[in-house]
Amino acid sequence: MNIHEYQGKEILRKYGVAVPNGKVAFTVDEAVQAAEELGTNVSVVKAQIHAGGRGKAGGVKVAKNIDEVRTYADEILGKTLITHQTGPEGKEVKRLLIEEGCDIKKEYYIGLVLDRATSRVTMMASEEGGTEIEEVAATTPEKIFKEVIDPVTGLLPYQARRLAFNINIPAEYLSKAVKFMMGLYQVFVEKDCSIAEINPLVTTGDGEVLALDAKLNFDDNALFRQKDIVEYRDLEEEDEKEIEASKYDLSYIALDGNIGCMVNGAGLAMATMDIIKHYNGDPANFLDVGGGATAEKVTEAFKIILSDKNVKGIFVNIFGGIMKCDVIAEGVVQATKEVGLTIPLVVRLEGTNVDAGKKILADSGLNITPAESMADGAEKIVALVNEA
Ligand code: ADP
Ligand code: MG
Repeated sequence: MNIHEYQGKEILRKYGVAVPNGKVAFTVDEAVQAAEELGTNVSVVKAQIHAGGRGKAGGVKVAKNIDEVRTYADEILGKTLITHQTGPEGKEVKRLLIEEGCDIKKEYYIGLVLDRATSRVTMMASEEGGTEIEEVAATTPEKIFKEVIDPVTGLLPYQARRLAFNINIPAEYLSKAVKFMMGLYQVFVEKDCSIAEINPLVTTGDGEVLALDAKLNFDDNALFRQKDIVEYRDLEEEDEKEIEASKYDLSYIALDGNIGCMVNGAGLAMATMDIIKHYNGDPANFLDVGGGATAEKVTEAFKIILSDKNVKGIFVNIFGGIMKCDVIAEGVVQATKEVGLTIPLVVRLEGTNVDAGKKILADSGLNITPAESMADGAEKIVALVNEA
């Protein structure tokens, strides 16, 4: 789960990680009022969307007086920001963060991730702050330093100091930088983060070490014990189809292609996307209906796939293990009748009661193309979509 920058900063503040003063605003008047309350000479108007790269896209503006706050707030609110992380359709700005302007000395990067190779939380740091870390990794990888953290001891002060030295944080900021890193690690662990990225972390003219940006992502599987984090959820920032899918316990991820996939089991779903790609097709989604899918669940899955306007064909690939093929076939027939399918549908069934399942599909009188194998099915759906 993703949250907004201003919410991330609220959490950081609670853990003693220094952030500039700021307030969220939903309207231009609120933005002006927030700036007046901050009472600083310079304030920054920041678009709050679940994507980075806002600065370059015109979503972060420095205002030198209240009139400028009004002008920028008016300009940014309601605007569709297109950044390298939003996709070409962009994201509409509905909230702003009005923040104290900082006298930046230098920008750095600090990030925490779970490194799957070592199975350890790893802190990364670089003196190339403000730029995307992916770009730094590609062009000057020697400027990224890492500390692998032992889960028993947690981040140790000497590791934080070593990182600070490596990225050339001046000595006078050292103790504050170490406190910052220790606090950030505590947030990451206690709040079940999957990513905590501060880009930039800045040193300021008045001797502070502050998080100017905050990107916190949380592990969905831990949300049951992070009720206060769930409160931060902003459904307007999430894909409608994914929200709908989560209601029915379907694992659905929207993708850019045009072939809708309905599969049982995450591994088979991954393999199905691969084989579609192999035959030069493009999957429109990842969808795992789970082991015990009922006819009702299959119908919902169909509706979600079809609500994606890019979908030009559907490939159902089911292995009946615990799940019986005849039950799936009935679900497919029922769903097809209910939602009135007008695009090609290829179904590959294998496993328990496969013959009964195939018979149900054949007898349904519906325009369903049966497939003998996964490869056969992928080839057929790609051909049908290309014909249409
Ligand atoms: P994004 O990463 O989405 O572009 P950031 O929050 O990192 O957004 O802001 C982009 C840049 O704007 C920062 O690198 C920093 O230079 C500047 N900036 C952001 N917040 C402030 C602030 N409170 N005071 C001064 N400059 C800021
Ligand atoms: Mg940033």
